[in-house]
Amino acid sequence: MEFSRNEIIDILRDDSQNDWLFSLADETRKKYVGDEVHLRGLIEFSNICRCQCKYCGLQSTNKSVERYRISPDDIVLYAKKAVEMGYKTIVLQSGEDEYFSKDIMCDIIKRIKESDAALTLSIGERSFDDYKAFKCAGADRYLIRIETTDRNLYKQMHTNMDFDNRVRCLKDLKKLGFETGTGCLVGLPNQTVESLADDILFFKEIDADMVGIGPFIAHPQTPLKDAKNGTFTLALKVMALTRILLKNINIPATTAMETLNPNGRIIALQSGANVVMPNVTTSQYRKKYEIYPNKICINEEPEHCRGCIEGKIKAIGRTISKDYGFRVL
Ligand code: SAH
Repeated sequence: MEFSRNEIIDILRDDSQNDWLFSLADETRKKYVGDEVHLRGLIEFSNICRCQCKYCGLQSTNKSVERYRISPDDIVLYAKKAVEMGYKTIVLQSGEDEYFSKDIMCDIIKRIKESDAALTLSIGERSFDDYKAFKCAGADRYLIRIETTDRNLYKQMHTNMDFDNRVRCLKDLKKLGFETGTGCLVGLPNQTVESLADDILFFKEIDADMVGIGPFIAHPQTPLKDAKNGTFTLALKVMALTRILLKNINIPATTAMETLNPNGRIIALQSGANVVMPNVTTSQYRKKYEIYPNKICINEEPEHCRGCIEGKIKAIGRTISKDYGFRVL
C-alpha cells in the first residue's frame, strides 16, 4: 500500500481508523519479514556525551548524572557473553564520547567480530573516514536517528548541531555499505503531524534498512523537563505507517514504548515491529544510561531479560530468530 503525504497526515490526525492501521501494519510485517523476531543484545557502553540534545538526559550540561565508561576489554566481554546467550547481533550504543577514537573503536569491533554475530554501532556523528574504518574493521550496521526532519525544530532541539551533517552521516553510511538505521522522536514540543509525515517519507527516500521510533519522554534534568510527553498511540501510528510504506525493513519495538505502556513492546510487535533490543549489560550501568526517566528493566540482569522477552514473544505465537537478521530482500 502506498500513501500520499496528505493521506499520511489524515491518518495521523484521525484516531478512528487506528485498529485498521495497526492490523494493516501487522499484515505487512507478516508478509514481508515473517513471524520471526530478531533479538539484538544492547550494550550501553558509555554515558559520556559532548552533545546537548535538549531532550536527552545524558546531555553534557546535566551535572547530576554519574558518568561511566565501560573499558574496551569489558565491552568485548559483555559482547561475548551475549553471543553465548544466543544473541546473533550485538549493538554498541553510547553518548558521543571522544575517548572512543577511531582506533579504539576499530580494536573493539575486530575483537567482537571474532564471535559469530553481526555488529551494530550507535555512537553518533563521525567523519566519513571513521565510518569507513569501522566498516573495514567489520561493523555491519549503524543506527543514527534523524530525530526530526523539521529543520526549525531540529535547530531548537540541537542548538550546537547541524541537520545537514546528520543527513551527511546517513548518506555516508549508506554509501559505505552499512545497513543503516534511522528514526525519530514522536511528541517533541512544537512537532507537527505534517513533520511526522515528512519523517516517514524521509525514511523511504534514504532507503533506511532499519527505523526506530519512540515517544519523547520528558527528563527532569533537561531544558524540556516541563514539556508534555509524547503519546504511546501516536508513536505506534508513526511506526505502523513506516512498516506499511517501507515494507521489508527491520523495525524495533522500542524500550521507550514500554516505558509509556506496560505491554508496549508486545503491542508494537503486533503493529509492525519485528525486532527487540534487550539490554545485555549488568544493572549497575543501566540506571546511569538515563536518556529518559523510568526506563524499564534497570534492576534486571541480562539472563533475566532474555528469558522474559522470549516468553512474551512466544506467548503471542511468534518465534525467536536464530539468524543474524539482516534486511530481507
Ligand atoms: N549518541 C547516539 C545514541 C543516542 S541515544 C546518537 O546520537 O545516535 C538513542 C536515542 O535515544 C536517540 O537517538 C533519541 O532518539 C532517543 N532519546 C534521547 N532522549 C530521549 C527522550 N527524552 N525520550 C525518548 N527518547 C529519547
